[in-house]
Amino acid sequence: MRRKIVAGNWKMNGSKDLVSNLVGQVRSELASFDNGVEAVIIPPALFVGDVVEQAGEKLAVGVQNVACWGSGAYTGEISAAMARDCGCGFTLVGHSERRQLFGETDEQVATKVGQALTSGLVAVVCVGETLEERDAGKAEDVVSRQVRKALVDVGSESWRQVVIAYEPVWAIGTGKTATADDAQAMHAAIRDVLMSLGAPADEMSLLYGGSVKADNAAALFAQPDIDGGLIGGASLDANDFVSICRAVPGRS
Ligand code: PEP
Repeated sequence: MRRKIVAGNWKMNGSKDLVSNLVGQVRSELASFDNGVEAVIIPPALFVGDVVEQAGEKLAVGVQNVACWGSGAYTGEISAAMARDCGCGFTLVGHSERRQLFGETDEQVATKVGQALTSGLVAVVCVGETLEERDAGKAEDVVSRQVRKALVDVGSESWRQVVIAYEPVWAIGTGKTATADDAQAMHAAIRDVLMSLGAPADEMSLLYGGSVKADNAAALFAQPDIDGGLIGGASLDANDFVSICRAVPGRS
């Protein structure tokens, strides 16, 4: 059975106060229902320790990025092994903000995926097309290329540590969401790409991200190939984040 995951990417937002207020509330509300969702909080790395301390068993923790290297003279970087050592189970890799603002390449994304998997983290690999690429009819080609290049070195024993988050760049932080049908079509295409790579595609979790809110989550998560969401802005509000977690269809 596929893991149902809702992950909250705080980006460069938050404070120790937000951690104390939000994590406790999310933790206690998650205890009040059981639809099988795995909720993950992905704060700025400085707050990982605080989140881990308060998260309890039902809430996992992740980082937003890891280095291309395991350790060494790379000032300012954080390794996947360090994230694991500090209690993280997940890392984002190749978020569009990393690709666009920091020039992260497909090759670096692949290296980071390798670091994450070797260190025992789940790599949430972010892919997605820009509006220009969508308008030019290239969305599927772009996403397919990103998936293939990111996963080029994944060995057969590690596929279950890979999650793909489809996040159309034009939908991130804009309030525009892909329609449930369009999102489903891209998720199905991604599953086909995974299958062609020899991955156990039917067992892998694919998340949708891009302006997911409490009021549109259920329609997206009801799609057969969408196994949860990567949530930005709405993950900074405990009520919104929990509502999105609740929108995952229950175990059948
Ligand atoms: C994100 O940062 O991955 C994201 C999807 O942001 P938002 O939900 O705010 O669009």
